[in-house]
Amino acid sequence: HPLVGFEHCELRYPNGTHALSDVNLTVREGEFVSVVGPSGCGKSTLLRLSAGLEKITGGYLQCGAQRTGYVFQDATLLPWRSVVDNVALLGELDGVSKAERRKRAEEAIGTVGLTGFENHLPHQLSGGMRMRVSLARALTLEPELFLFDEPFAALDEITRERLGVELTELFAARPFAGLFITHSVSEAVFLSSRVLVMSGRPGTIVEEFEVPFPFPRP
Ligand code: ADP
Ligand code: ADP
Repeated sequence: HPLVGFEHCELRYPNGTHALSDVNLTVREGEFVSVVGPSGCGKSTLLRLSAGLEKITGGYLQCGAQRTGYVFQDATLLPWRSVVDNVALLGELDGVSKAERRKRAEEAIGTVGLTGFENHLPHQLSGGMRMRVSLARALTLEPELFLFDEPFAALDEITRERLGVELTELFAARPFAGLFITHSVSEAVFLSSRVLVMSGRPGTIVEEFEVPFPFPRP
């Protein structure tokens, strides 16, 4: 069963903006799919729909993932909370015990290579490190599907490349699926096994291609 499946999906916002038209897209278990397109073509809308944060106004949308983890470009960290307390935040909302939250948070912080920074505040970290904190926070949910909303957009090229490599390594070791949106074709090709091209207003998927030599995945 697909983790997310769009069939002929339409979305019109209440103010009349026709954001998406006839969108067809499927992400299956273990797949890492990227959507590339210019600003304003509806990529973020597509992700919010995948997370159940928005409702389609036409077509059929299947959400098969029990848990989704959202990773944003600006990291959306609480500035007054330490790294570990930011990472443990989602468990708090889910009513997970304090000891278990701490354990999961520390594990996730280790996974993203930030051990030793648990008690730092977000402003004491670089942009790349904040992005890792955001990823660690999503990891604590053990999501079946990761949704990435241009997580590297605000980063310099070297950091972006390094985090890209780390992300592929992280995903190569785990069976997560990912839906990654970006306006960078090279980033999409590097990270995923399948790339969808979106354009237009309303946005729709105009092209789809398999990456011939994708990064090794399980
Ligand atoms: P992208 O992520 O590709 O830049 P978006 O999904 O953010 O595109 O936006 C697609 C279109 O929908 C744009 O025209 C944008 O202005 C519009 N839009 C986005 N969110 C809303 C909203 N909540 N209400 C009305 N229009 C919106
Ligand atoms: P990033 O690429 O993660 O944004 P930067 O290259 O901007 O990090 O580095 C900012 C500072 O933080 C540097 O002094 C760097 O050595 C340090 N730093 C970044 N990531 C780590 C890490 N995982 N462990 C230790 N130090 C780090």
